[in-house]
Amino acid sequence: MKKNDTHLPKEFPEGMKPLGKARFNFACHAGVACFTNCCRKLELYLYPYDVVRLKNRLDISSEDFLDRYAGVVKGSNPCFPAVMLIMSANQEKTCPFLDAAGCTVYEDRPSACRTYPLERAVARSGSGGRPEEFYFMTNHSYCLGHMEKREWSVKEWVGDQRLQYYNQMDDLWAEMDTLFGDSRIWRGEGAAGPRQLLAFMACYNVDRFRQYVVDHRLLDRFRLDKSRRRLIESDDEALLRFGFDWLKLVLADKPTMQAKG
Ligand code: SF4
Ligand code: SF4
Repeated sequence: MKKNDTHLPKEFPEGMKPLGKARFNFACHAGVACFTNCCRKLELYLYPYDVVRLKNRLDISSEDFLDRYAGVVKGSNPCFPAVMLIMSANQEKTCPFLDAAGCTVYEDRPSACRTYPLERAVARSGSGGRPEEFYFMTNHSYCLGHMEKREWSVKEWVGDQRLQYYNQMDDLWAEMDTLFGDSRIWRGEGAAGPRQLLAFMACYNVDRFRQYVVDHRLLDRFRLDKSRRRLIESDDEALLRFGFDWLKLVLADKPTMQAKG
């Protein structure tokens, strides 16, 4: 079963040993006997950047994507919901993006799928307060990719799967998720109160947030340099980053942007 990135304290649970510089064998291709076995019956959490990539890949709005493919569930954050990909209703409960030839959204597949067979964890107590990342090997008996000859280091795997940008975006999201775990920022409104609905929209429903930004003239309220403003107006990833900054400011008073006088 694929899991998404986890953000753990530096003391890892027993049996979990970071790979470090160790090399590992793995290859996944249409010739392996287990091809696509891992793309079914998944508990696959989607992060905000996954939603942006997938809805743009499918050329639908974020609202449509959430309606058709996602479930809002209780995840590990006690104060904020998580989003999970809904499997198809067939007997095999396959991923909705799977067909006979494999993954139909391969270039934009979620970060959990890209990272597999590794899992990534970020420890927040690194030296100088900087987050440190660790990778672990998963061990699913059905996955025969481990028997293949091709050898990798973690660095090579991260490069090959183009994980760097996903990791950057997921780390920004992890900061938000930590913030959302502080019950004080919801001012006693409880689940699905106005502040939570606003936060959920900015993180997961970027197309609706884009309209909100226009309707409330949000970009006029802050000192943003011209190039960033232009990017926010045209690019969903830039809008997502702006949304994170804006939420930190309005929910927790963090000085992420300077308001215009
Ligand atoms: S080798 Fe592993 S990752 Fe690839 S299709 Fe088989 S089970 Fe899935
Ligand atoms: S998104 Fe692609 S790789 Fe991920 S589970 Fe679905 S079909 Fe498999």
